[in-house]
Amino acid sequence: MEICQTIDSFRAVLAEARRTGRTIGLVPTMGNLHAGHASLIDRAAADGHFVAVTIFVNPTQFGPGEDFARYPRTPTEDLELCRGHGAAAVFMPTVDEMYGEKGVTTVSVASLTGGLCGRSRPGHFDGVCTVVAKLFNIAGPEAAYFGQKDAQQCAVIARMIADLNFPIRMVICPTVREADGLALSSRNRYLSPAERQQAPQLYAALKLAASMVPQGTTDANRLAAAIADHLARLAPLGKIEYVEIVNPHSLSPVQQVDRPVLAALAVRFDSARLIDNMRVEPEPSGG
Ligand code: AMP
Repeated sequence: MEICQTIDSFRAVLAEARRTGRTIGLVPTMGNLHAGHASLIDRAAADGHFVAVTIFVNPTQFGPGEDFARYPRTPTEDLELCRGHGAAAVFMPTVDEMYGEKGVTTVSVASLTGGLCGRSRPGHFDGVCTVVAKLFNIAGPEAAYFGQKDAQQCAVIARMIADLNFPIRMVICPTVREADGLALSSRNRYLSPAERQQAPQLYAALKLAASMVPQGTTDANRLAAAIADHLARLAPLGKIEYVEIVNPHSLSPVQQVDRPVLAALAVRFDSARLIDNMRVEPEPSGG
């Protein structure tokens, strides 16, 4: 496995792989890798690519009061995980390598970033899009792998790929969860024991809403209210930031579940802000 710290050396490794007929599958991450990230690496490898993982805690996607400085950095364990899952190259640049010239160009996907997480994290998705566009231009992958866990990020990047004509196939992989349903996240480690105990209720609330649809509740407001009520009762340590039922592509609110929708939520515990989401399908119409 090749470990690259500079853009030039990473490009050289990928060029060599291409010379031998390989296609590149890119897995962008911020490190502190867990089984969720591993599932993306596995999928890229199963698709037959030369798998390139990037590990970069991107400062431009963190807001002023956010956790950039204390975000967990575990390079040794990360490299071990990459090796174990068949990654062929890992790119772990410094902030200076990525942003040394203090770029003034940013990528902004306007209409998809105002709602959901964008409301409380202004500028976050511009940071994400800009760094992902830079990684796409550095690596030139045939395919790039992202997790459904970050549903708004997926919608935004899909739109950026289409709008900017990146010749890249985006593959969205299912959310990997703990046995109790909590979506794996590098931020779970911030949770206190009491918060950790309540955190699986995010997934339980989403499942509850999904189960109401076949029983005849298709009104989005009622589904959102049921999620909020469940969280208020069973995860009282968390403050609900949003619960929304939206179109999975445009992220606009929907009124009725008459086609597949996305139920998405964010809950702020004292020690960590958690997000989760679930696709909710309407009942297939009979006959
Ligand atoms: P991060 O390191 O948090 O920026 O995540 C890097 C990539 O891994 C993103 O595409 C995430 O959506 C994805 N990811 C994070 N957590 C999970 C999870 N629990 N299941 C699947 N993918 C995940």
